[in-house]
This record gives sequence, C-alpha cells and structure tokens, in this order.
Amino acid sequence: AAKKNGRNGFCWFENGMEVELRTRNSLEADIRAAIPNDEFVPYFEQQIDLRTGELAGFEMLARWVSPLRGLISPDEFIPVAEDTGMIGDLSLSIIRKAMLEAKGWDPKLTISVNISPVQLKDPWLAQKIVKLLVETGFPASRLEVEITESSLFKNLSLAQSIVGSLKNQGIKIALDDFGTGYSSLSHLRALPFDRIKIDRSFVSTMLENSESAAIVSAIAGLGSSLSVPITAEGIEQQDIIDKLRELGCTKGQGWFYGQPMSIDNVRKMLAERNMLIVKKSANIAERA
Ligand code: C2E
Ligand code: MG
Ligand code: MG
Ligand code: MG
Repeated sequence: AAKKNGRNGFCWFENGMEVELRTRNSLEADIRAAIPNDEFVPYFEQQIDLRTGELAGFEMLARWVSPLRGLISPDEFIPVAEDTGMIGDLSLSIIRKAMLEAKGWDPKLTISVNISPVQLKDPWLAQKIVKLLVETGFPASRLEVEITESSLFKNLSLAQSIVGSLKNQGIKIALDDFGTGYSSLSHLRALPFDRIKIDRSFVSTMLENSESAAIVSAIAGLGSSLSVPITAEGIEQQDIIDKLRELGCTKGQGWFYGQPMSIDNVRKMLAERNMLIVKKSANIAERA
C-alpha cells in the first residue's frame, strides 16, 4: 500500500509509522512475556588492566536470548523497556544474576553495570542496588556503576544524591561514553566520578583520524589532571593499545580482547585460568 500511494508523501509516512507502532507494540508484549521466562541474561565483556595486560573484570551487557527472535541487543529492547516503565525491574533482575555469577569469580575481578537515565530518576535506586548486594553477598567494592551524561540532565540533584549514596556504600561510579551526547565538562565537577570511559567512536578511529586521536588524548589529559582513571572502550587493534598506554589510560576493553561472552563461556575462560573460586560453578562449567 505504501508504494501504491507513493505520490502522496503524507500517506506513505503514516503507513510507515503504523508499521513501526505495531512492531513496537508486539516487541513490548514479547518483552513482558520474556521476563518471567528468564530470557534476559547478563553477557560479560573483558576489561583489561592496560599497565599489566591482566584481566581486571568485566562489563555486564544485557542480552535478550529469545527463542522467537534470537539474540537481541540492548539497543533494541532497552529503549522499549524505558518507555514502558519496565526498565527498573528488568535491569535489576539482570544485575542480580550478574552479581550471583561474579560472586564465584576470583575476588580481584570487578563488574561494571550500566544504569539507564530513566533509572536515575528513581529516588530508591541506591537502596535497591544495595539490597541486591546484601541478598547476593556480592561485595560493594567490586561493583562499578556506569552512567551517561544524559542521566544528569533531567534532575541533577537527584542524580547527585543517588550517586552519593552509592559511593557511601563503597560502590564506584564511572562516566560512560564520555565525549558523546550532551557533554559538558561541568558534569565532571558536579559528580565525584571514580572513572571516565572514553567512547568507542573516538578510540576505534584514533589511528586513522587525527580529530579522534586529539580527543582521546585530551580526555586522557583531563583524567590525569583530575586524577580520575580512564577506561578506553572499543579497542579493536593491537596498535591502539600502545598508544592508549602512552596516554596513561589504565583500563581497556573491546573486541581485540574479546566480544561479550555468555555465562558459560566466562566460566570456561575463568576455569582455565584458575579464577573460579566456587566449586559448584566449576562443576557446572565442566558439564556445559
Ligand atoms: P556501552 O555501555 O557503551 O557498551 C559498549 C557497547 O559497545 C556494547 O554493545 C559492546 O558490545 C560494544 N563494544 C565493545 N567493544 C567493542 C568493539 O571493540 N567494537 C565494537 N564494534 N563494539 C564494541 P552492546 O552490548 O550492544 O550494548 C550497547 C549499549 O546498550 C551499551 O553501551 C549500554 O549503553 C546499553 N546497555 C547494555 N546493557 C545494559 C543494561 O543492562 N542496562 C542499561 N540501562 N543499558 C545497557
Ligand atoms: Mg557501558
Ligand atoms: Mg560505553
Ligand atoms: Mg559506548
């Protein structure tokens, strides 16, 4: 029908919107059904200490393992979960799974979790995260919470109070995707970040593109002047690592080190390195 009415731009547009809305409604319905079905799971991307080359921990990245739709990226379901009020519970349930899993790892390994701007509007967020730590027995000192600058726009004072409560518990706070979106250097002053993450769009292009290289180097300089350690995301090549090290970036992650892994694959990797401390998890890994 869209093509038949091709001369009528308005009609074509409307039909397109209708299709989009229908897809979105069915996506929403599928997400609701998938939650009790346990289809949302944590995947883990390695984070490397660039000074030693050792594994420092993992960033938890949510995945929807849907029997109907396959493996679905958070870029598809997080926005829908945000718009429909599902994000809070959904996110915490995946973080809970990650904590239960990471409890069985070498205690020097940390996990970083992503918090949506929508979640930062919940005055109980800090209490909810602390409750998860208590329930799972995962130590606060091994948890890092990643927030983006867009979170700080809507309600800075609420964000400050949530971040303050999290930090009081010993949880670290990272500023994610720095340099993209509505960046403002004043955000660095408004909140006591423990870490800044340089966005992949700058890191992955820094060898070919001199603007990217300048931006990475400026952020690294800012980190060192402010004494805030830097993580570089999106490392895809070896050559970039040397450059990042020279600039003083302390951590790195990206597909050069490995793509995000399922729980089973993390267990296998850690078992080979003698970094699984819980016997039960090791046995599960052997069976898998
Ligand atoms: P992010 O936090 O910036 O995470 C990094 C994203 O870049 C991940 O995509 C990761 O797989 C991808 N990536 C990392 N290294 C490389 C690389 O070397 N090359 C390329 N091409 N890509 C790389 P992913 O997992 O699709 O996540 C996308 C975004 O979804 C995340 O961006 C984060 O903002 C959001 N997200 C993921 N999990 C959660 C969650 O549990 N809650 C919330 N609120 N957001 C989440
Ligand atoms: Mg992140
Ligand atoms: Mg990021
Ligand atoms: Mg990013």
